[in-house]
Amino acid sequence: MSDEQDTTGQSADPSATHAPSSGGERMTFQAEVNQLLQLMIHSLYSNPEIFLRELISNGSDALDKLRFEAVSNDNLLADDTELRIVVEADEAAGTVTVRDNGIGMNRDDVIANIGTIAKSGTKQFLESLTGDQKTDAKLIGQFGVGFYSAFVVADRVTLTTRKASDPAASGVVWESDAEGGYTLSEQSVDARGTEVVLHLKEDMKEFAGTWRLKSIIKKYSDHITFPIMMWSEPTPPPPAEDGEEEQAAEAPVLEQVNAASALWTRPKSSISDEEYTEFYKQVCQDYEDPLVWAHNRVEGTQEYTSLLYVPKKAPFDLFDANRDARGIKLFVQRVFIMDEAEKLMPRYLRFVRGLVDSNDLPLNVSREILQNNRIIETIRSASVKRVLGMLEKLAEKQPDDYKAFWTEFGACLKEAPGEDFANREQVAKLYRFDSTHTDKEGEWVSLDEYIARMKPGQDKIFYITADSYRAAANSPHLEVFRDKGIEVLLMHDRVDEWGMSYLSEYEGKSFVSVAKGDLDLDAIEGDESDKEAREEREAKVKEAGPLIERMSEVLKEDTSEVRASTRLTLSPACVVLGEQDMAMHMQQLMKQAGHEMPSSKPALEINPSHPILELLDKEQDEDRFADWSRLLLDQALLAEGGQLEDGAGFVKRMNEMFVALHAG
Ligand code: ADP
Repeated sequence: MSDEQDTTGQSADPSATHAPSSGGERMTFQAEVNQLLQLMIHSLYSNPEIFLRELISNGSDALDKLRFEAVSNDNLLADDTELRIVVEADEAAGTVTVRDNGIGMNRDDVIANIGTIAKSGTKQFLESLTGDQKTDAKLIGQFGVGFYSAFVVADRVTLTTRKASDPAASGVVWESDAEGGYTLSEQSVDARGTEVVLHLKEDMKEFAGTWRLKSIIKKYSDHITFPIMMWSEPTPPPPAEDGEEEQAAEAPVLEQVNAASALWTRPKSSISDEEYTEFYKQVCQDYEDPLVWAHNRVEGTQEYTSLLYVPKKAPFDLFDANRDARGIKLFVQRVFIMDEAEKLMPRYLRFVRGLVDSNDLPLNVSREILQNNRIIETIRSASVKRVLGMLEKLAEKQPDDYKAFWTEFGACLKEAPGEDFANREQVAKLYRFDSTHTDKEGEWVSLDEYIARMKPGQDKIFYITADSYRAAANSPHLEVFRDKGIEVLLMHDRVDEWGMSYLSEYEGKSFVSVAKGDLDLDAIEGDESDKEAREEREAKVKEAGPLIERMSEVLKEDTSEVRASTRLTLSPACVVLGEQDMAMHMQQLMKQAGHEMPSSKPALEINPSHPILELLDKEQDEDRFADWSRLLLDQALLAEGGQLEDGAGFVKRMNEMFVALHAG
C-alpha cells in the first residue's frame, strides 16, 4: 500500500478531463518513422509488455524536466504540485492510459518529437538491420524503442498534451493508427502534462487488466523516482445482515504501485544483482543485461554516489563523431538534472552508463556551470579511476568476460593516451594485442605478459601497425624478430597508429615500431638461431656496397636511401619509414579522406643473401637492372599496405622478369 492516497475517487484526478480527438489536420510520418514503426511492431512482438516501461519512462522524463524548470519558475507547478504518473486500465473499452503531470508539449514539440525521429544515426541504424527478427529486436532495443512501442500493443494511440507554461486553450491532440500518418488537432486541456491512451489490439487485450499492469510496473519501473499510481480494485461490501441496509462498494482509490526509492541511495548490501540489472535496463534503456557495475558512495569533504555500468554490447554508433552524448546522468540530491556524457566521463569511456548523484552541486546547475567546476572535476577523476579499477578486476577475475569487453570497447580505450595523459599507463594495463607469441588472431596478450617474456637485454616493446591482422602477421619486418624469438605486438586497429603516437612507454619500457627507423637488436640475447646462416648473411651485408650503390642511383627519386637490412631473413626487400612517419596504410587512408600527405620517401632495405639480390648483383644489362630494382621497391611498398602509382608498369616488369628468368 502506498502512503500517498487519493480518496476522492476516479473523477478527482485533475488531468482525467482529456477526451479522444476526432478529425483534425492529417499529417504524414517522416519516412524513417514509418520504417521503424513497422520493424518495431514485428520485432517486439515477443516482448510486448515493454511498451509500459517506455511510456512510464517518458512520463518520468517529463516530470524531471518540469521539476528542473520549476526550480527557477515556481509558477509552473501552480497548485498541481504532486508530481506523478497515473496508469489506468479500462477492460470494457480495451484501453490503457498513461498520464503524467509533467512538462507537456506544444504543437511544435509534438510534431518534432512524435512525428519525426531526431536521433542522430537513424539512417545508419536502419541500414544496419539484418532482416532477422531476433537480431533486429536486439538492435532496436539498443537504439531505444521509445514512444512508438505503444503500437506493438495498440492499433490506435491518442496523445493529448499541454505544455506546462501554456494556457489551457493551447492543448494538442495527436492520434495515429500507425498507418503512414497521424492527425493533429487543438483542444482545450485543463491540466498540464501528457496523456497517452492505447486502444489495444484484439490479441493484446490482456494488458487492460489491472493486475497485469501492476506486475509489469513492479518488474520494470519500480525504481522510477516519481509515484506511479493505479486505481485500486473496488472492494465488495460485506454481506448485509438481516434488516440492515446494503452498503455500497468501497470506491476505488489511487494507490502507489512502485517503490520509488532511488536504488542508488540504498546500501549496497541490500541490493540484489537482479535489482542492479533491472535498474540498468530501465535507466539506461538497454535490452541486455550489463556486463559489470560499480556502486560507490563517497562521504567527507564531498558527498556523492555513483552507479556506473559497462554494457555488454557497444552501441552501433559508438564511433560516430556526431553521436548523441549519452552516458552518465547527473542528479543533485536525487533530483534528475541532465544526461551529460562529456563532463562526467572522458570520451574514451563514452560507453560507460549510469549516474552520479551529488549532494554538493546547486539544484539549478546548468551546463555552463559544469564547464570548469571543481566538484565535477573531482567526481570525474574519481569515476575514471573507479571504471579503470572495475575493468582491471574484471580482467583478472573473469577473463572471458574481459575478452568480450575488449572485443566491444577495446578500440575506444585505445583513444585514451591522446586524451587522458595522466592515466595513460593505467589504461594501457588494460590493453590486449595480437602478438607473434601466440601467432593466432584473437589470442591476445597484455603488456604485462609481454614484459614478463622479454629477452635478456631487451628494454623495448616492439610492435607493428597494419590495416589487418594478416598484413601485420606477414610483414617482412618481423623476420629477424621471429628468427631471434623476440615477441612483436601485432596492431591492426585503425586507432593504433594514432594512439601509439601518444603512448611512448609502459613500465619504463619504450615502444618501438619495427617498421620504422634503424633497428639495433645487438644488445638482445635472442634465441640461438642458425649461427652459420646468420654469419653468412652478415658477411653478405658487408659485401653489398657496390650493389647498393647501383640500386641507389636507379631509385634515388623514390627512396631516401637504399641500405642492407638487418631485419630480413626471408624476404628480398622491405621499405622502412622514418621514426616520425605515419604508417603506409594510414597515409593511404588519409589520402582517400582528402588530406594532403607530406611525401616523405621511405628507405629501401635489401637482403643481400636472397637469391633475387644475388641475381641482380650479377645483372650486366643496366635497363634490366633498373627494372628489377624498381620491381623490388614496388613489391616492398605493396607489402607495406602502400599503393603503386604505376600498377600497370609493375605488372609489366614482373611479367618480363618471369620471362627473363625462364629464359635463364
Ligand atoms: P526518447 O524518449 O528516447 O527521446 P521517444 O520516442 O520515447 O524517445 O520520445 C520522443 C520525444 O517525445 C521525447 O524525447 C520527448 O521530448 C517527447 N515526449 C514523449 N513522451 C512525452 C511525455 N510524456 N511528456 C513530454 N514529452 C514527451
